[in-house]
Amino acid sequence: MLIAVTNQQEQASTTALEALPLRDNLRGQSPYGAPQLEVQHLLNTNENTHPVPQVVVDAIGAAVLDAAASLNRYPDREFTELRQRLASYLGHGLTEDNIWAANGSNEVLQQILQAFGGPDRKILSFPPTYSMYPLLASGTNTEYIAGIRADDFTLSPESAAQQVKDTQPNIVFLCSPNNPTGTALGLDVVEAVYEASQEFNTIVVVDEAYEEFSLDTTKSALTLLDGRERLIISRTMSKAFALAGARVGYLATSPQVTDALRLVRLPYHLSAITQAAANAALQHVDVLLATVDEIKAQRNRIVDELRQMGLKPAVSDSNFVFFGWFEDAHAIWQGLLDRGVLIRDVGIPHHLRVTAGTEEETTAFLVALREVIGA
Ligand SMILES: *Cc1c(COP(=O)(O)O)cnc(C)c1O
Repeated sequence: MLIAVTNQQEQASTTALEALPLRDNLRGQSPYGAPQLEVQHLLNTNENTHPVPQVVVDAIGAAVLDAAASLNRYPDREFTELRQRLASYLGHGLTEDNIWAANGSNEVLQQILQAFGGPDRKILSFPPTYSMYPLLASGTNTEYIAGIRADDFTLSPESAAQQVKDTQPNIVFLCSPNNPTGTALGLDVVEAVYEASQEFNTIVVVDEAYEEFSLDTTKSALTLLDGRERLIISRTMSKAFALAGARVGYLATSPQVTDALRLVRLPYHLSAITQAAANAALQHVDVLLATVDEIKAQRNRIVDELRQMGLKPAVSDSNFVFFGWFEDAHAIWQGLLDRGVLIRDVGIPHHLRVTAGTEEETTAFLVALREVIGA
């Protein structure tokens, strides 16, 4: 869906918006918006580009049909079955008391900010990282502190811990594997941040949206949950599970943190349709995750071929690859778009990000890129 807006229309609506009694920290801001263009190869938002397997489509269809008959009633406010299924998927001895879910992990992260952030509170994160974090911060009137990474975008335990001590945040968001760079953090970074934040009673969130795509050597921070009651691991069904359209995100944490989130969630925030679809899908985890190995193979292929082209791809634990170095990255992005391949210009000079799709989509991207750079 492409909505064409002329400059005049844009200016008129900006002026109209400015006239409203908008909060000061929202003035002049733009909504999150990865372009939704009609292009043959959509490799810009890290979706799983494989279609939902037919057996899962059928199961979701049947479950939603069943749920439709009782839509006159509010859904299970506690979405207990869903929490049980998510706990058993995650393992690590977790139960439904450790699990929370909402309409996408974006809503989960927003609820964390509603409960633990807000006016006079601060959140620390480490750009370049997920572009929604500052938007969620301003939406909840929480001060966003942009931490610092090394020039190669890595983050050491010592540096992360020192920045926590210096800024004393109420919340820390760590994204691992990190979007947009694709690289996972060592668990030593999570441990060091948690340790350093002890005296400030900080909530430490590890956003593991891409965990299922990690290199085999990479461990989930779920292994650190035991004994760390302020630690939250956020996950989503949008990426590896290929269910971005269903809007289901979730987290694992201590029971007291889930109780805190109950204070800010809207009643019945997960619709009966959403719960039915997610529960049905979770009965087919193996089928849903069957594409993960194929996507990882395409991801590794992109990294290898970019290196052959003389480019510099970052280590990727995710279903996308962050790469440079281009004098004019936007011109490369446009050249690819002209050839029917939409990737992401994440606004980091000299770099671009591409989602690893099916084998055909990956080929289309690599062929187009060779043409554009004249390799
Ligand atoms: C895609 C993504 C999410 C997922 O968002 P949903 O709301 O669950 O679709 C969360 N965190 C990061 C870093 C992401 O890239």
